[in-house]
Amino acid sequence: MSSIVSPDDINPLEDHDRFMIVRNWSDVSPMATHLAMAKPIQSLAPLRDFPHLRHLRILGGDALLSTLVPLPELCSLRLTAVPPKGLTSLEPLSNVANLERLILHHVPQVRSLRPLAALEKLKDLLIEVSPGSISTLQELDSLQPLAGLRAMERLELRGIRVAELGLRPLEQMTWLRHLVVNNHFEIEDFARLAAALPTTQGFCLHPFVAVGIPCDQCQQEKVMLIGQTRPTIACPQCQAKHVERHVARFQQCKAAYPNAVGP
Ligand SMILES: [Zn+2]
Repeated sequence: MSSIVSPDDINPLEDHDRFMIVRNWSDVSPMATHLAMAKPIQSLAPLRDFPHLRHLRILGGDALLSTLVPLPELCSLRLTAVPPKGLTSLEPLSNVANLERLILHHVPQVRSLRPLAALEKLKDLLIEVSPGSISTLQELDSLQPLAGLRAMERLELRGIRVAELGLRPLEQMTWLRHLVVNNHFEIEDFARLAAALPTTQGFCLHPFVAVGIPCDQCQQEKVMLIGQTRPTIACPQCQAKHVERHVARFQQCKAAYPNAVGP
């Protein structure tokens, strides 16, 4: 199944009309700025002949990514592993040091983010598992490689688990404007982040978030409690005591880390 790649697989973003899917290099204008790679492309080396290329999507595995050449104008890259087990290393991304926006869309076998530490211009990073496999979290070694990325404005981690240090490396990123982390960490993790990042926006920096579902009993909008490990939805009216206890605990944890900012 995974050997068949549909153009739809590569086009989930809103601006997909601008991307030309490359299946034959001779079809592509050397003026192209938006290209998407899928089978049967086997090497990215010909990209060096596209000096205006700024936006690239790669649907492939280690064999394809390892052929990535330096692309000085490239500012955005979206990477999807096909087949899902075919991409294990982000090492070739050190070739695209000017990258400002990176989407790692369903790269479940990638564990190390260390190569991203070289992307000093990165402003926007999204790591997400495929919506169809949200129950399977992506296991990352550590978030530490992200902590020194001073240009980063927006960080979205959707569907991850972390082996070492949890969310603690993110506490150093006080320059972040927007942060999203999937709700699979402890209340202490989120509360500490909320204390460390007082000017950052993001639902995971609050005790709960509205989920847009009305309560069957009272019609009030339900909320998801942040930091329950197993995400919990509650009605703030019918389960008021439960929600209040949670909020109090979140605030208590947050107050316990008034100086959580790292070096
Ligand atoms: Zn209710």
